[in-house]
Amino acid sequence: MKNEYKVPVAALLRNPGSRQEVDLEVKAPSGIGDSFYGVRQGSPVRLKATLSSMRSGLEAKGEIFATEEGKCSRCLKDIKRPVKVEFSAFMPLEKEMKEDSPMSYQIDEDGIYPLCGDFADFEGLIRDELTLQLSMIRLCRPDCKGLCQKCGADLNEVKNHSHEREVDPRFKKLAELKEQMTK
Ligand SMILES: [Zn+2]
Ligand SMILES: [Zn+2]
Repeated sequence: MKNEYKVPVAALLRNPGSRQEVDLEVKAPSGIGDSFYGVRQGSPVRLKATLSSMRSGLEAKGEIFATEEGKCSRCLKDIKRPVKVEFSAFMPLEKEMKEDSPMSYQIDEDGIYPLCGDFADFEGLIRDELTLQLSMIRLCRPDCKGLCQKCGADLNEVKNHSHEREVDPRFKKLAELKEQMTK
């Protein structure tokens, strides 16, 4: 089966100094975010990049476009909005990954995605870059007022929402004290 994240780069690798434009439309890989918030697996992702050939591998620079979805952490409203990430990565030749190479790379180093033979594999890059980019503050809008803690009403929609006035806790203490004194 064809791996949609893999791009053939054999000709590029043979010509250090040359460039290749990549424009991929793929499905989002799994594992971006969590069940509450993230880029849904299978949702459309577009990757545009320029690959530059160097002796030890390829340099990739570009942008990723996707959609993040989930629930507002204050009012639980559904959120769905576009995300755009700019990235820059290095894709070393497989032989550069070996320990005896003068320029060896660790697979888990940030921004390092080893080539698979004559192919550049963008799956890990898409997952990592989108995961990093996901909004840390998952709000429908920066000033979301959230829900009333007593009745669950959406405070963004109701004005001056309030409940029957409660006894101020400070007065409550005083009332209790009075009661004890009169016993
Ligand atoms: Zn909200
Ligand atoms: Zn309420």
